[in-house]
Amino acid sequence: MPIQILPARLANQIAAGEVVERPASVVKELVENSLDSGATSIEIDIEKGGHKRILIRDNGSGIVHDELALALSRHATSKIAKLDDLEAICSLGFRGEALASISSVARLSLSSKPKEQTQAWQAHCEGRDMQVQLNPVAHPDGTSVDVVDLFFNTPARRKFLRTEKTEFAHIDEIVRRIALSRFDVSFSLKHNGKLLRKYPAVKVQGSELKRLANICGKEFSEQCIELNSQYQQFELKGWLAQPEQAKPHGDFQYFYVNGRMMRDKLINHAVRQAFEGLIGADLYPAYVLYLTLEPNQVDVNVHPAKHEVRFHQARLVHDFIYRALTDSLNQYFQQGQQHPPE
Ligand code: ADP
Ligand code: MG
Repeated sequence: MPIQILPARLANQIAAGEVVERPASVVKELVENSLDSGATSIEIDIEKGGHKRILIRDNGSGIVHDELALALSRHATSKIAKLDDLEAICSLGFRGEALASISSVARLSLSSKPKEQTQAWQAHCEGRDMQVQLNPVAHPDGTSVDVVDLFFNTPARRKFLRTEKTEFAHIDEIVRRIALSRFDVSFSLKHNGKLLRKYPAVKVQGSELKRLANICGKEFSEQCIELNSQYQQFELKGWLAQPEQAKPHGDFQYFYVNGRMMRDKLINHAVRQAFEGLIGADLYPAYVLYLTLEPNQVDVNVHPAKHEVRFHQARLVHDFIYRALTDSLNQYFQQGQQHPPE
């Protein structure tokens, strides 16, 4: 075969393999876009586990008419302009891949109205070259992304979709993770027209525990150990379940680095070490923790779905997390009648 440039849709479908694994990954990408746009309210409406439809509405900055088509094309982003920007990245997105990828494997409409624009517009793209069509629509300030028939044109991918129930469970979990990262934003989640989750924004400081109870359950929020530690420019805050509440699975481990949820070996190791001797080797500590450090101290550009990070001072970060957890566990044992296990 002669060398040829792939048509836009095919190139995007190949790239989609990395970011769009299942309906929950679509939800993650779209909700992250809403957060990056400064939205304070995000509504997520799912039909048939996301197989049929994923609709996300936000009240964020919106996209101006002239940039709507661009937003759907690959490598188009408003979040970075040069390599240095990546060093100081504060947004969740930066690759400019999500909308292009999703629209190549589903029927996607993007509707938006920035405050300063009187008319809202909708973009839709079709065909090999992903030609974008724009139409005027009625829409309040903000953006909606409507994703219908995910993987309709990639049967091999569609085969990997699980049942409605399983796919929705993944979406529910992603929304929980994201809601835990932004207490200042309201989220709602509907499935097949039924409102299943409502996480209202925390308006007054100190009412975080209410939201925590709403997302993680009363048992966790009533018994958790609060943690708040600082060292140099590192900060670790959040909540730990008492060691006696350790779980037989690792599903209740939420760790955020500068607002991004991470699953990272170094972090796991530090936490594990802090709990050593306090919980059985076959149990997992439960926690919701937020690590904050200078953006230039971490490299988020490691994995397309951004689950992993690279810390520039890995050892220091590891030891800081370990210390912070050990200190608050010791404090917990000193304050209460509880004794660490022999
Ligand atoms: P990235 O998030 O990496 O920039 P995306 O493909 O997810 O790439 O989005 C492309 C661009 O479209 C974003 O950079 C942003 O400017 C715009 N955009 C996407 N979703 C929204 C939204 N909900 N509100 C405002 N702008 C958005
Ligand atoms: Mg994005």
